[in-house]
Amino acid sequence: MTQRLAAQPFAKQITTRATEIATRAIADAGGVAPEIAVVIATSEPDSLLYVDRLLKQVSATGLTGRRVELGAAATEAEIFAALTALSADQSVAGIILQSPLPSGVSREVVATAISPAKDIDGITAMNAEQLAEGTHDASLLPATAAAVMELLRAYEIPLRGQQAVVVGRSAIVGRPVAQLLEIAGAHVEVAHSKTPDLGVVTRTAAVLVVAAGVRGLVRGEHVSPGTFVIDVGIHPSGDTIVGDVDAPSVEAKLGDTGGLSPVPGGVGPMTSAILALHAAEAARRLVRARA
Ligand code: NDP
Repeated sequence: MTQRLAAQPFAKQITTRATEIATRAIADAGGVAPEIAVVIATSEPDSLLYVDRLLKQVSATGLTGRRVELGAAATEAEIFAALTALSADQSVAGIILQSPLPSGVSREVVATAISPAKDIDGITAMNAEQLAEGTHDASLLPATAAAVMELLRAYEIPLRGQQAVVVGRSAIVGRPVAQLLEIAGAHVEVAHSKTPDLGVVTRTAAVLVVAAGVRGLVRGEHVSPGTFVIDVGIHPSGDTIVGDVDAPSVEAKLGDTGGLSPVPGGVGPMTSAILALHAAEAARRLVRARA
């Protein structure tokens, strides 16, 4: 049977570590919990549900979550102003800008208003540049990319000298995953929507990360036996979610020596745990800077 690369129990261990770090930071701050702000400019139910879960996770560490609701009609100037105020606010340790943004709002433009030290989901240009140079702070990486790497690390999947393929090249998932895999010593190839024959590329992979945002895109014929596949996709399906990988046909092809991260239960919960850890580390940083 194909190995199931589930987030638990590793995600739980990470949230425990986050709680320990947050507890110490709060004690050092005289009992006042630093805040983690989530800026929301959408009314999409799935996105709001994600924010609820995220804020719950933040509160579970002992930190205070702050919901900054700007509405789905928020302008670029309004979002920029909110992020500027949060960056200057001494009670706020970390800032998350929730996706999606209203049409016409540039993520790159508004991200310039976020203080890089509070950028716990790694969207500022400075943190992206540091990742490109390999001089990044791990607590300021894009959380989903860090979660993919954490799953690979947790299951001791070899990367050095291995052929890794990433499907997707977005600034928040595909590109940072490819950069982190390269830093880990893999030979990395990136496939995208213009790749002429996806299977020709993906079948070469020892490690395959799929972040295309297309439900069931990668099927059995796209993989080779023994590959480790990480499915980043999230698509609502009835009262559950499915990924970018068609799990039944892919598992049938991977066989006993390969692995697949489940959806739900894989990258999603690992990302929440990583964000909690980034939040706790930002709280520690803020409290130390204030001391
Ligand atoms: P984007 O839409 O920003 O990027 C998708 C990428 O996939 C693009 O680079 C695109 O190529 C590529 N792509 C699209 N169609 C194909 C195709 N047919 N073949 C090959 N490549 C293709 O998505 P995100 O990176 O934001 O998200 C990807 C997925 O991950 C989504 O399902 C999203 O819901 C999920 N997600 C999950 C998270 C988690 O915590 N589990 C967090 C964030 C996202 P091109 O550049 O040429 O357009």
